[in-house]
Amino acid sequence: MAGVKQERKNYIKFLGTAGARFVMIKQLRASGGLWVSSGETNILIDPGPGSIVRCASSRPKLDPGKLDAIILTHRHLDHANDINVMIEAMTEGGFKKRGVVFCPSDAIGDDSIILRHAINFPEKIQVIEPNHDYQVKDFNFTTSMPHIHPAQTYGLKFNIKNTSVGLLTDTRYFPQLIDFYKTDVLIISVVFYQPRQGIDHLSFKDAEAIISQLKPKKVVLTHFGMTMLKAKPLLQAEKLSRAFGVEVVAAYDGMSLDF
Ligand SMILES: [Zn+2]
Ligand SMILES: [Zn+2]
Repeated sequence: MAGVKQERKNYIKFLGTAGARFVMIKQLRASGGLWVSSGETNILIDPGPGSIVRCASSRPKLDPGKLDAIILTHRHLDHANDINVMIEAMTEGGFKKRGVVFCPSDAIGDDSIILRHAINFPEKIQVIEPNHDYQVKDFNFTTSMPHIHPAQTYGLKFNIKNTSVGLLTDTRYFPQLIDFYKTDVLIISVVFYQPRQGIDHLSFKDAEAIISQLKPKKVVLTHFGMTMLKAKPLLQAEKLSRAFGVEVVAAYDGMSLDF
């Protein structure tokens, strides 16, 4: 109808595409995480530094007061720095007990990244376990096996409408990843261009190996480190599209995937 704004219902918005320390510290790419809207449910995944800023500067604005959950794949700062302020925002300054925070067990307890004053604001803090299903309203997600990464880390799988989406977060490559991430859309955190011995992150070579085995309908590369940025993610994504006949895109800050 003319004059009536169509509200977008099912989408993933990239509030950041920075991976690892230096791209985050210099903010060469933003680091706000992913906002997922699925039906009536709003979820924020991995609110790194600037997440609250990116919500406010998003067009249209994203209102954290409408979040139903926040999910942390792991406690590293590029994924979790803004967790406290986002909890405050989700709970309207702590005055409205609402929402669920999902996080690995090493994100709370000793050296909790969630401050004592904020830990009781959400309805629930749910510790996530490997290979487990969770539900938030009409949104369901499944955690992966533990990733190989220097903190307890889980990737995610979920459906938006009839499309399955995999979020392959930080990890070293290992063959079992292929069994879990069989999805229509696969979001891959590609930190390095060249493989680096002894550092538990995926490289472009690993992404190639994953795509060639899984052949998802669509691949989104994100979480870029310095060497990936220098290699121009857009060009690299085009290269992969041509090589495998799969739609591969390089995420940019503010990009939306609609479902
Ligand atoms: Zn990371
Ligand atoms: Zn990490």
